[in-house]
Amino acid sequence: MKKESNLKRLLRYAGGYKYLTIASWILSALSALVALLPFVYIWKVIKEVLDAAPNYGDVQNLSHNGWMAVVFAVAAILIYIAALICSHLAAFRVQANMRMRAMHHIVTLPMGFMDGIGSGKVRKTVYESSAATETYLAHQLPDKANALATPVGLIVLLLVFDWRLGLLSLLPVAAAFIIMSIMTGKRMAKKMEEYNNALGQMAGEAVEYVRGISVVKTFGQSVFSFRRFKEAIDNYEKWVIAYTKDLRFPMMCYTTLVNGIFAVLVAAALVMASGGVTNEFLLNLIYYIIITPIITLTLTKIMYASENKLIVADAMSRIDSILEMEPLPETDHLKHPKDNSVELSGVSFRYKDAERNALENISLTIKPGEHVAFVGPSGGGKTTLASIVARFWDVNSGSVKIGGVNVKDIPKEELMDTVSFVFQDSKLLKTSILENVRMAKPDASREEILKALHDAQCDDILEKLPQGVDTVVGAKGVYLSGGEQQRISIARVMLKSAPVLILDEATAFADPDNEAKVQAAFSVLAKGKTVLMIAHRLSTVTGADRIVVIKDGKIADTGTHGQLKDQDGLYAEMWRQYNKAAKWKVGVSNA
Ligand code: ADP
Ligand code: MG
Repeated sequence: MKKESNLKRLLRYAGGYKYLTIASWILSALSALVALLPFVYIWKVIKEVLDAAPNYGDVQNLSHNGWMAVVFAVAAILIYIAALICSHLAAFRVQANMRMRAMHHIVTLPMGFMDGIGSGKVRKTVYESSAATETYLAHQLPDKANALATPVGLIVLLLVFDWRLGLLSLLPVAAAFIIMSIMTGKRMAKKMEEYNNALGQMAGEAVEYVRGISVVKTFGQSVFSFRRFKEAIDNYEKWVIAYTKDLRFPMMCYTTLVNGIFAVLVAAALVMASGGVTNEFLLNLIYYIIITPIITLTLTKIMYASENKLIVADAMSRIDSILEMEPLPETDHLKHPKDNSVELSGVSFRYKDAERNALENISLTIKPGEHVAFVGPSGGGKTTLASIVARFWDVNSGSVKIGGVNVKDIPKEELMDTVSFVFQDSKLLKTSILENVRMAKPDASREEILKALHDAQCDDILEKLPQGVDTVVGAKGVYLSGGEQQRISIARVMLKSAPVLILDEATAFADPDNEAKVQAAFSVLAKGKTVLMIAHRLSTVTGADRIVVIKDGKIADTGTHGQLKDQDGLYAEMWRQYNKAAKWKVGVSNA
């Protein structure tokens, strides 16, 4: 089955504005034809002058015809502007609709999707892909219609007054094209491909180079250390110079011929007029000589009427990559969780395109109100396990239940009200702190929000900010450290007060003061709730009801701190390492 063309698909995004796009093509083509009309009036002007000669006082319609030429020239511009207005209205509508479609789709996707790809990249994809279609719809297509209509009108204009002179003026054009195609024809396609390859390679290396710029800066290396980038540029340069030299001769012939049409006409006229000239012939000759630059102009216009289909195809496929992602399925037998327990039975999960399971046959029951800490080596699957409880992803096999109900059967909103997540890297929006916290509960009063902030140990943050709780995050001069941002997002979760809490502890804190405050905020937050805590420092897990050690996607050990630290397992080893590291730190700071 042939895929629908990109243009068709773009027009479907346009909805009713599709007709504006089509109107823009028609108007643009029309403008091309109207732009030729002044030449008819110029012909009339020349004719009248020649007819009246030598009694130039007899001319009657000279200024009328002159003005008509101006009127049509202006009209052509106005019609072209109208075409552009139509095409822009449609192009902007297409852009807006593409973005809307993508955004509507994104909200139905698993939460993990945003985490996996990164919200920045998603935004960029949606924004830039839709924007990339603008030039194509708003400019390139109408210009193409214009460039196609011009030669049609021009040929009529050339043949209608004196077909012999008309054909003569087309002769050099035909010769130019024949020379061009003989000299470049077959090789051209291959050359274009090579050119695109060289360009693509250079662009690719440039991206790599920019990615690695921090390394270059850190190690003080010069540009030349990025050998491949330099090679790509050199390669491109070599190619372009060779290509240019190759084209020099054909291009010279082409340009000479196309610009020398009048010379052919003059030479031909000398031959044709050997038996004496009529007024009519003189008129047409002058007219054709005047009009020849338009032929040159038209050819140039067609040659450069580029249509960047590649950019559009690329943009469409990038948007499609988002639209083709499957939304989380909704079941039709929705149920409500009975309590705040969490139960995983035989859960296996594999990330899309991953080679092995991130979770392997995990079974675990967490009682309502129990505090469970997850520890283990990095990459073991702790974050993944927590994510599937909040249904950021659906498991491949086994089941995840909250309050005895499979998370797939819990209504989306209810699941969101039941489970809260404090991420490692909490994201704040560029709005006031008050509004950032209010997001969790849109109808919360200012007092409620202030209390949540207080409970989350944010008082010191509010004090140091110029407008307190109304300070806009990210405004000029407002800087919040990672730990401070995390405390504010704890306040957010505090306000929501969901009964099941998932805490992903930040891996590193800049200062111990912040760390202590985040810990204090966590413990206020955790009171009376079922807590799944991903801990990176063992100091924070000793008080947990249960510790689950996760390694290679499996549960390696489980028990309390007291039980595990004396067993000969991974946890005991981690605990020894932790203590050694702690002592070492103390030793260093005492030195
Ligand atoms: P932990 O939190 O214990 O450090 P994770 O749950 O983040 O471990 O990762 C478990 C495994 O899953 C790792 O092998 C990791 O590379 C992989 N993984 C994590 N997130 C993704 C993702 N979005 N896409 C693909 N693989 C992932
Ligand atoms: Mg993690």
